Order: sequence, then C-alpha cells, then structure tokens
Amino acid sequence: EIKAMNGNGITKPNSKSSNIVEAVQTARDAFNRGVTRPIEWRRKQLNSLLRMYEENRNAMIEALHKDLRRSKMEAVLLEVDYLINDLKNTIHYLDEWSAPEKPPKGIVNILDKVVIYNDPYGVVLVVGAWNYPLQLLLLPMSGAIAAGNTVIVKPSELSVACAQFVAETIPKYLDNEAVIVVEGGPQETTELLKQKFDYIFFTGGTNIGKIVYEAATKNLTPVTLELGGKSPVYIDNTVDIFVTAKRILWGKFINVGQTCIAPDYVLCTKEVQDKFIEAAKKVLKEWYGDEPQKSPDLCRIINSRHFSRLQALVDASRDKIAIGGTYDANDRFIEPTVLSNVTGTDKIMQDEIFGPILPIVTIENAYEAIKFINEREKPLVLYVFSTNDKVVSSLVDNTSSGGMCVNDTVMHMGVETLPFGGVGSSGIGAYHGKATFDTFTHKKSCLIKNFAAIGEKLASGRYPPYSESNLNF
Ligand code: NAD
Repeated sequence: EIKAMNGNGITKPNSKSSNIVEAVQTARDAFNRGVTRPIEWRRKQLNSLLRMYEENRNAMIEALHKDLRRSKMEAVLLEVDYLINDLKNTIHYLDEWSAPEKPPKGIVNILDKVVIYNDPYGVVLVVGAWNYPLQLLLLPMSGAIAAGNTVIVKPSELSVACAQFVAETIPKYLDNEAVIVVEGGPQETTELLKQKFDYIFFTGGTNIGKIVYEAATKNLTPVTLELGGKSPVYIDNTVDIFVTAKRILWGKFINVGQTCIAPDYVLCTKEVQDKFIEAAKKVLKEWYGDEPQKSPDLCRIINSRHFSRLQALVDASRDKIAIGGTYDANDRFIEPTVLSNVTGTDKIMQDEIFGPILPIVTIENAYEAIKFINEREKPLVLYVFSTNDKVVSSLVDNTSSGGMCVNDTVMHMGVETLPFGGVGSSGIGAYHGKATFDTFTHKKSCLIKNFAAIGEKLASGRYPPYSESNLNF
C-alpha cells in the first residue's frame, strides 16, 4: 500500500491513485502560488535540509546499515558527507547561480537589455534507486528546491529503511506542500508517471529508464535519466600494478559492486592479467582477511532476487574463478570474486553485473580494447590505467562514454565541477555542482527593448513598405 506524506508529517495510508493525484496537485498549487520562487524561501529550505542531515547523521548511517549492511565509513563518505558537502556548496553559490545572466550583445541591441532568466520548471519528479538510496534521491531533490521547483520524491521501495527514513524525516524539516514524499514500487511509480510533471529526474536501470522516457513524451516533459551499464577498465603495462589493483578493487567492492560506476570488467593483456591477479590476492587479503564474510567492511546484496542472479553468475563462471567464488544465501553474502580469461560471449559479459564479481577479458593492445568497447552499448564511465599519454588520448578520442576517469575509479564523481551522467544507453543529462542547479532550471531568454527615439529610427528599415536599398548586397 502506498503512503503519501503531506500536510503534517504523518504517514497516512490511503487509496493509491487518489493519494498520488492529490500529492501532485498540492505540489502544483504551491508552485502556482509562487511559494518556491523567492531565493530566501529556497535558502531557508536548504538550510533546514542541512540541519536535517546534521541532526540525523546516525539515523542515516543506521538505515544504510539495515538496508545494505553498509559500514559507517562508506555510509559517511559516499552518502552522508557527500550530501552535506554538496548542499553547503549549493547554499554558498545560490545567489550567483540563480541571478539573471547577461550574455554579450551585438551593436544592434546596444540600447537594449539582453537577459537570461534562471526560471524553475515547476513540479519535478525525482525517482531514486536502492543502491545509494539517500544520495541518489536527496541530491537531485535539493537541486530542484535550489532552482525554485516543487518536488515529488519517490524513494526506492527496495531500500526499506532508507525509504522510511526519508518519508518520516523530510516532512519534519521541509515545506510540506512544496516537497512531498510518495512511497511505493513499480505500481505507484506507474501511477505517478501518468501525472503531468514539468521535469522528471530518474535514477535506475536502462530498461525502466525507457519506460520513464516513454511516459515523459506524453507531456513533452524533459528528463534526466541516470542509468547504468557495463563500465570497462583498460589497464596497460605502464602502471604500478599494486596501486592500480587497489584503486580498481576499491571501486568494485564498495557497496559490494552495487554501484552504477563500479568497474564492471577489466580489459588487459594476459601478462597484465597475471600481475593484476597476484596483486589483487594480496590486496583483498589485506583488506578483508582470510574470511571476508566476517569483515565488517563488506556490504550485503540488497535482496534475495539480486542474490540469486549473482549466485547464478558465479556458478556459470566456475572454471574461470581466479579469486573468491564462495557465497552464503542466508547472509546474502557474495565473496569478492575475480574471474580470468573471460570472453565477450560469456554470460557474465551480457548484462551489468552490479555485484562483487570482476571478470578480466584479455586483449592484445589498446586498439583491441577500443574495438571491444565500441562494439557494446555506451558505458556510464570508461576507466583507463596508463601512464602513456598517447594511449590515454587514443581512448579519449576513439570511444564514447558518459564520463572518463584515468588512473582511478569512482573518484571523478567527487569533483563537483565535473557534470556526471551517461550517454546513449547509460543515460541522458548530467548533474552535480552547478550542473544540478542548471538541470532543474529553464534558461528563459529575454530581450528587453526600450522606446528611445534613436533606436526606433535605426531599426525603422524593417517596416513596410520594404525598400531593397536597405539590404546590403
Ligand atoms: P530500477 O530501475 O529497478 O528502479 C529504479 C526506480 O524505478 C525505483 O524507484 C523503482 O521503484 C522504480 N521502478 C521499478 N520498476 C518500475 C516500473 N516498471 N515502472 C516504473 N518505475 C519502476 O533500478 P535499481 O535496481 O533501483 O537500481 C539499479 C540500476 O540503477 C543499475 O542499472 C544502476 O547502474 C543504475 N544506477 C544508475 C546510477 C546513475 O547515477 N547513473 C546510480 C545508481 C544506479
């Protein structure tokens, strides 16, 4: 049963669709009354949200632990502090980002004003995923508020504790008519998508992204689709293999691989593969000990459906396991696993893995790597490990991906001046930092003429009766 939050912060179970229609109408009315337009209102909301993060740090950490058995370190680094830093940055730049822009103007408009207004779209829908259940929902939500929109937020139903935290806490801190949490799964999201929104921001899988896009076309609603896919890593023989292994394995095994920008698979020569596996064995032992299941630093798989999917992938790859390969269904635990000598046609190479299994596909050189990448859907990120500038340039120049990160993994998303998003099947649009504000802002161009007699005289040639003597050719 769906629960919509609205009014006084009390979750009230209700009849599904009427509740959703009511929630969207409330947000629409608030926008139409102009509630969200004043910068001071936005600043107040954002400061209140900051207070919410700071006062509920432990509750957020606990919810992430409940849903994913997330360690405190990963909870703070990848969600709580990430949100706090982003929000502080947004508050700091709010005046600057929202101020009307004055682009350069030509001689014809010398007496006029040429302005670009940063206009909110209206009512925004933000739909989140379960893997980073707070960050991926609340970061776009705060951007939508900063830009002056009202927002309906729909957390993923699979990260139960985080969804509950969001539904219970948001109404205590934010304007209940401008920011409304709607809980539910596919059925409720389908109902939401029947409503008219002015912008839809969706994070999730590519297949559901297509459903969202199709629904958005009915009202010509602009979208950001933050989707997934198989992000490759190319390693050449010029790198420090231990540092490389650490950086790749960290990006792969945070949240046990349930990360949209986790390195999905490695491309390298046989020689590099052997060195990488040797280094990876040492690194994993150092990090997680002889019994990784006992390590407090490894998350669990979100639910049994995803566990079975990953278990089947491990089982189908039995003869290629170089490291790991054990699992425990009762604990939804999958050991960090590395597969060697994988080929492009193996089962593990068909879909996004989204779990702690890292296949290595051997190729001969960078050109083969480029060919392999270009034969597949455009990834969210392409990772390259090389100290050879020519090799890096050849991958930059000859492949297409949402973004790239060279000689590290995941850390590019911490650079707030780098817009983050996909291309092709990994998504549409990008956010983070100012790009988040701009995502939820319509750039409203405006020419403001004056009535000065000289201006009217200079432009009088445009009026009939036309005279060709005014044309300069
Ligand atoms: P998902 O697509 O299953 O679910 C995302 C959201 O869509 C949820 O809120 C869910 O309730 C809703 N939903 C599910 N089925 C629906 C349907 N039939 N109609 C309408 N709505 C529906 O994705 P997920 O499993 O939560 O997340 C994993 C995927 O998301 C991976 O592919 C991952 O790569 C991607 N992802 C991308 C990013 C990014 O920033 N690009 C970040 C995290 C995850």
